[in-house]
Amino acid sequence: MPHIESWVPVPAGSDFSIYNLPYGAFSRPVSPARLGIAIGTQILDLHAVASAGLLDDICDRRVFLGGTLNAFLAEGREVWRRTRLRIAALLRTDEAGDPRLRALDTAKFLVNQRDVRMLLPIEIGDYVDFYSSIEHATNLGRIFRPNGEPLMENWRHLPIGYHGRASTVVIDGTPVVRPSGQRRPPGSSAPVFGPSTRLDIELEIGFVTGPGNAMGTAIPTSRAREHIFGLVLVNDWSARDIQAWEYQPLGPFLGKSFATTVSPWIVPLDALDPFALPSPAQDPQPLPYLQAGGRWAYDINLEVDLQTKRMRDAGIAPQTISRTNYKELYWNMAQQLAHVTINGTAIRPGDLYASGTISGSTADSCGSLIELTWNGERPIVLPDGERRTFLEDGDTIALRGWCAAGDFRIGFGSARGTISPAR
Ligand code: MN
Repeated sequence: MPHIESWVPVPAGSDFSIYNLPYGAFSRPVSPARLGIAIGTQILDLHAVASAGLLDDICDRRVFLGGTLNAFLAEGREVWRRTRLRIAALLRTDEAGDPRLRALDTAKFLVNQRDVRMLLPIEIGDYVDFYSSIEHATNLGRIFRPNGEPLMENWRHLPIGYHGRASTVVIDGTPVVRPSGQRRPPGSSAPVFGPSTRLDIELEIGFVTGPGNAMGTAIPTSRAREHIFGLVLVNDWSARDIQAWEYQPLGPFLGKSFATTVSPWIVPLDALDPFALPSPAQDPQPLPYLQAGGRWAYDINLEVDLQTKRMRDAGIAPQTISRTNYKELYWNMAQQLAHVTINGTAIRPGDLYASGTISGSTADSCGSLIELTWNGERPIVLPDGERRTFLEDGDTIALRGWCAAGDFRIGFGSARGTISPAR
């Protein structure tokens, strides 16, 4: 990639190099939400950029004046591409740059990330969660059906998923209240009611959609790129005890609908292209509507950090409990989108489709505690001697994700949540 410098300083190791330019929404105290683009430690205020007329030749400036990205997502790939090129031009210093912004009072266009609250940048209409990591599905099969085939018969033929709950998708930093519900204690024949005692995480990446399709039509894998805008980190918090009792025969319900945390920044697929790879081979070959050419795997490093309240109080840094990568996912985004729409369902701008838990092939690369601790049999030992199987009140989980090449990074920021006691 050509070397590009920005006049906005980008500290070494920052997730937000000029190659990234992810979209988010922010608010200053007592101000309404605005859209912005992260660069270094700053946010470029898209409301201000659009109001200065610097995007008027690309699309109606009102697309950028609201508090969510949905109108922009609806514009489609050509507008996304031109906007991204324009923002890069306004921020870069070389002769390919556009000097118009730098000629203005730049302080009016930049906001320090420290001084704002980040907000959910999309109004999410529908949320779907898949189950597309073969390592994760195999691990759970081994835990729950130790004497059977780990993978269900259908798993290699279609990307399994369920419709989740859009209203409880929340942004990085939002506290997660421990859910209460029905669970059936081991060895008991009757359920009890109370706070979940097996509260878990799921490390995932989700894609955010742009233009929808007409109801009754499908989106072929070859057209997926026109409909997928970008990616976010997703933590699909899961109450394993509630889930285990309720899930048969219709699948996950209240064990997963109480909170889903996403990172504040949506990284455009255009930014991730240099990190695209061919997807892993599939055996057997899927049905024709699920066959996808092209490079749909992305080399995104993923990490899960855990810090307990006691660690926080003692000044002990968060412990990384898992490291993995998005590139091994068995079912890719194009296949997921083709499958979701093959029955004629309509998707809309701002829908969220999460990958399912991303687990690698080693014991320390799993994306959930149920796998990392093998159903609670092998507790994680933390630096202060504490042990964890599932989450305790006061625990903070932070997901991180980034692509790295040479001296720059394209990152998502974090998706954090701290567990509050059940109400
Ligand atoms: Mn999930």
